[in-house]
Amino acid sequence: SFHKSKGQHILKNPLLVDSIVQKSGIKSTDVILEIGPGTGNLTKKLLEAGKSVIAVEVDPRMVLELQRRFQGTPLSNRLKVIQGDVLKCDLPYFDICVANIPYQISSPLTFKLLAHRPLFRAAVIMFQREFAMRLVAQPGDTLYCRLSVNTQLLARVSHLLKVGKNNFRPPPKVDSSVVRIEPRGPLGPVNFKEWDGLVRICFNRKNKTIGSIFRQKSVLSILEKNYRTLQALQLSEKAPSDDMEMALDVSALGETFGDLSVDADDGKDDDEMEVDDGDAKRADFKERVLTVLKEGKYEDKRSSKLAQADFMHLLALFNKAGIHFS
Ligand code: SAM
Repeated sequence: SFHKSKGQHILKNPLLVDSIVQKSGIKSTDVILEIGPGTGNLTKKLLEAGKSVIAVEVDPRMVLELQRRFQGTPLSNRLKVIQGDVLKCDLPYFDICVANIPYQISSPLTFKLLAHRPLFRAAVIMFQREFAMRLVAQPGDTLYCRLSVNTQLLARVSHLLKVGKNNFRPPPKVDSSVVRIEPRGPLGPVNFKEWDGLVRICFNRKNKTIGSIFRQKSVLSILEKNYRTLQALQLSEKAPSDDMEMALDVSALGETFGDLSVDADDGKDDDEMEVDDGDAKRADFKERVLTVLKEGKYEDKRSSKLAQADFMHLLALFNKAGIHFS
């Protein structure tokens, strides 16, 4: 019997398993991390292709079945099974991750892997089709979203293989896709909280212009609060490259980026900030924000069309003006 809550959909098509292993580009020297090995259909071929497999499985019955399957075979001494929730355990060293995962952990798992050090070569993972298409979406694509931008900040992502639901037992409700994720090398001085703060605001209404997004009262008031706090601390003119501690802190990545499988867009607009005569400070701050947008020529652009480098540039301009997102 299978557990729906654990996303237990077993791959039953051996040709598909072969194809996934082949496309993974596993070397005979590789330590492979597998997440959710289940009954071990993929595990077996991974053991044949690489040096060893470390498999993390949450369900004790599956762990037992897996151990029973390889017991007494030459493969068993190259397999290590860790029983536990992959989101809660410390990951061991690995060269490559290959996995058919339960879809409910897609987003937190992706960012847990991308925060893992030392960097691994690649992760080849089965996702729900729509999640996969979001991961690889480019500016201008319908599914381009915060998930796309944040993932692609940290990794090169490519679509490897479409997988229909009938390759699984029991079949899931949705189609799937296998995606290849290759972490980028050293990332440079990016403050992830700042980065995600900006991207989150921009994609809350991704089809509106950046100008109208940053005229929203709610957005301005958050940014102004940050601004005043930092000014009070006399930190507002600090260059982003001074943020080395933050820049290198990838440990919080999972929590920061982990909740973003879908972008909210309630379609509603906040009222534009009304400037009463008495509120010169607020008007000044709004002007400061709009000056940044004009300087970078972002006012009339839309998030759905902005590339990685544009967000990076926009963040740098904001920071230069003392405007911060965390
Ligand atoms: N890899 C097998 C296959 O392809 O046939 C099974 C894949 S099935 C989609 C997902 C597996 O992940 C199940 O065995 C389930 O028990 C396990 N699992 C679910 N949540 C998990 C978690 N948080 N940590 C580790 N394993 C988990």
